[in-house]
Amino acid sequence: MKDLTILTCAEQALPQEPFQARHFIDGHYVDSADGRVSDRISPSHGVLVSQAALGGQAETERAIASARAAFDDGRWSRLSGKDRAAVLNKVADLIEANQDTLAQIETLESGKPISQARGECGGAADLWRFAASLARTVQGDSHNTLGTDILATVLKEPIGVVSIITPWNFPFWILSQKLPFALAAGCTCIVKPSEMTPSTTAMLGDLLNEAGLPAGVCNIVLGHGDPVGALMSSHPAVDMVSFTGSTAVGKHITKAAGDTLKKVALELGGKNPQVIMPDADLDQAADAVTFGIYFNVGQCCNGTSRLIVHEDIAEAFVAKVVALSKQVRFGDPLHPDTQVGAIVTPEHASKIDGYVKTAIDQGAHCALGGAPLEVTGLGQQFYQPTVLTNVSPDMAIAHDEVFGPVLSVLTFKTLDDAIALANDSSYGLSAGIWSENVHTCLEFSRRAEAGTIWTNTWMDGFPELAFGGMKQSGQGREIGSYGFEEFLEVKSLVMRIGHSREPWVQTS
Ligand code: NAP
Ligand code: MG
Repeated sequence: MKDLTILTCAEQALPQEPFQARHFIDGHYVDSADGRVSDRISPSHGVLVSQAALGGQAETERAIASARAAFDDGRWSRLSGKDRAAVLNKVADLIEANQDTLAQIETLESGKPISQARGECGGAADLWRFAASLARTVQGDSHNTLGTDILATVLKEPIGVVSIITPWNFPFWILSQKLPFALAAGCTCIVKPSEMTPSTTAMLGDLLNEAGLPAGVCNIVLGHGDPVGALMSSHPAVDMVSFTGSTAVGKHITKAAGDTLKKVALELGGKNPQVIMPDADLDQAADAVTFGIYFNVGQCCNGTSRLIVHEDIAEAFVAKVVALSKQVRFGDPLHPDTQVGAIVTPEHASKIDGYVKTAIDQGAHCALGGAPLEVTGLGQQFYQPTVLTNVSPDMAIAHDEVFGPVLSVLTFKTLDDAIALANDSSYGLSAGIWSENVHTCLEFSRRAEAGTIWTNTWMDGFPELAFGGMKQSGQGREIGSYGFEEFLEVKSLVMRIGHSREPWVQTS
């Protein structure tokens, strides 16, 4: 693509030595019992960024035992909300103080632009602070009208030991959507990051110690989904699994957790539509669609993968999106102005390309891109901004999660058609509509099947709200007070006043 803006860095601040990521168990960093490690090569620069301990059954069992003991002896679960909040606020301060270090390694391991990695790590500190504020809000109900001699309350308690399993696309952010909320509730945790992006999660261990989190309250095990994640999902000493990742693995985890009936909270894939009505502010909408496709190279559960545009404006609107797409700055993730970096692995890049090629074979028209992108000096693990028109709802590209910088365009005549197309998906994570007519926006918002709806905006998020998906995009909610409640168990307490209880056994 000749007219694309591609940024490269003259001098790159690449690491001299790979970061050594180790497990964090019972407050100490440890290697794997068998000494195994995995190497992470930067998808953009081809350098060895980190070597991470590769956990097996031994480390996972130790971490679970540590979390169980820490929960059961009450070193954290019985602390006051005020004391728990103080520790979480210190972690937030330490995340901010280490923002650059965290962002640098997050960029090198994932391929995402450094400006976005900084935003992710800085934003994560805010999630920790918000969770800290919730630690002091745990409350239940009181029942004072159950009879003259009965007083009852409904109490909230931490659910127990929580396994947290996270993906590679927003490693530190997604960790921070879960861990501080579980800790605020009084739970203890075992965390497993993706083996592709283990380092920022491993680095957090030091920050937790420095903030004064008691040893054993948060344990981190590095390694593959099998065996580490699998054991974390099935182990009888674990009470809940909080997972973010693919729908396929989410279903697997639900089955693995079923034998012990653990609670399972799932944040899974999406195939998110933005609907464009003819009366919309088309410039704003085109910019938001462009942001929605290319943010995090499209490797974003909330990415806009479907553009559903009214047929009267389709051609002009797609032309706007194509023109904007050419101005998005692709290139070296370490360049401060880069907006789109590298694809996480060569296998994932081929998967994206396979979807695009199949769609074109099936009759889709490639209005832009449609092939890998070579960035001089940085190899080929990049993908061109890609816009496909003439997509029909039966094509795989219209319903599968491609997870790349690829937009599929579908058209409609009426609002009913647009809503039917938006809901024609096994996923239900997020959806949006652009219209100047508030009635149109409200009608869509009520009928769209998705956990988040945006009207005249896209991907704005706040720790105060609830995040999660309908249908096969997940179960349960994260962040906000609803997300916090997921980590709380409910207990009814019934108290008799005086000695008025009728005896059950009639003694003579
Ligand atoms: P993934 O392959 O499902 O992996 C997610 C995590 O699960 C990784 O840590 C993985 O370990 C682990 N895992 C794999 N097999 C497992 C098993 N049998 N038992 C327990 N854990 C197992 O997902 P991904 O490719 O990393 O991430 C991309 C997916 O995440 C996309 O589908 C995206 O939509 C979704 N996502 C959803 C949200 C949301 O909030 N809804 C947010 C971000 C991403 P290893 O890979 O290290 O082996
Ligand atoms: Mg995976």
